[in-house]
Amino acid sequence: MNLLDLPVPLWGETLSQYGEVPYRGRQISHWVFKKLVTDLSQMTNLPLSSRALPPGNLSFDLPEVVTSETSVDGTRKIALRLHDGPIIESVLIPRKGRMTLCLSTQAGCGIGCRFCRTAAMGLIRNLGVSEILGQWIEAMRLLVREGWGEREGPPIDHIVFMGMGEPLANLDVLIPAIRTLTHPDGVGLSPRRITVSTSGLVPKIDLLGRANLGVQLAVSLCAPTDELRREIMPVGRVYPIGEILDVCRRYPLRNRERVTFEYVLLSGVNDSREQARLLGRLLAPFRSKVNLIPFNPFPGSPFGRPSDQTVALFAEILAGFHITATVRKSMGPDVLAACGQLAREHQTMVHALEKGDPST
Ligand code: SAH
Ligand code: SF4
Repeated sequence: MNLLDLPVPLWGETLSQYGEVPYRGRQISHWVFKKLVTDLSQMTNLPLSSRALPPGNLSFDLPEVVTSETSVDGTRKIALRLHDGPIIESVLIPRKGRMTLCLSTQAGCGIGCRFCRTAAMGLIRNLGVSEILGQWIEAMRLLVREGWGEREGPPIDHIVFMGMGEPLANLDVLIPAIRTLTHPDGVGLSPRRITVSTSGLVPKIDLLGRANLGVQLAVSLCAPTDELRREIMPVGRVYPIGEILDVCRRYPLRNRERVTFEYVLLSGVNDSREQARLLGRLLAPFRSKVNLIPFNPFPGSPFGRPSDQTVALFAEILAGFHITATVRKSMGPDVLAACGQLAREHQTMVHALEKGDPST
């Protein structure tokens, strides 16, 4: 069993089942999350017997970093290989004094949004808690290697679940992962700094709300009418916009917090003035903000990116409805690290090449 698959508050209890003293859980979590050490033999304040043989054969196996590419704007894409082969990606985004880590929750994605590169992979499998936390550990190691440890403050201060996959399709893993990310013995990040983005799985949004984690909610709306939404996001056939807005109203928010609606702008598809007005009317009565994401093209995609002018006009029309609309700057497009560009289509080929197989 991988200890990282359990929420950190349960570590002490679990270790005591294997004959360890309960405070061993705290000692080990300190090594893992504060010092980024996952090798028991290096945990020097543990008794030699615990260091040599993991209690109950517990492990801390993590996905293995295969590549890390840095974009001209400083965005970094980290590719990690899971123990059974699939490759997932995380993105580190330095911006305005913040360091945001974008995490994957699945290898591939089964939701099938037509504008998303990950969709073409289909769903390979859900990630486990240790594979989500492993992305954080490896991203931190990368930053620390570059001297971040010497600066003040935690290197990664925001986390967004906007990488590969639909986080709410893997809710049983997402919830314990968030508990470790927010627990003082784990990563210790405030839940206000964690955002879960979903394609709008209504019953799961309810469950996330009931888990009372205090995390921010973002919903990819991407169309102002059900008719258009069903075309570009097949999940719209299951959950109409009205139900999505209802569940967002029920989502527990603190004072002044709002649900974010993401809207990928596709040229000539959902970016007209009339569509901006429809979206404005839909969201005006609602405590929300809109995040406009100009489409990030990828090879073989049928959509185009609207002009800056069109994007600005769309935002202006929403402002007329007193809706705060921000435009998401595309980060790391040159290394295909921007929203919706994460994918590894040719996994077997990549594997073979990395292993130096001349037959491919
Ligand atoms: N599955 C979740 C989170 C991952 S996708 C979701 O769909 O919300 C993160 C964001 O990227 C979503 O808002 C999605 O609409 C957006 N996105 C997907 N493909 C994109 C593309 N090609 N260009 C710009 N944004 C894209
Ligand atoms: Fe999956 Fe999100 Fe991409 Fe849709 S946009 S296919 S839900 S990752």
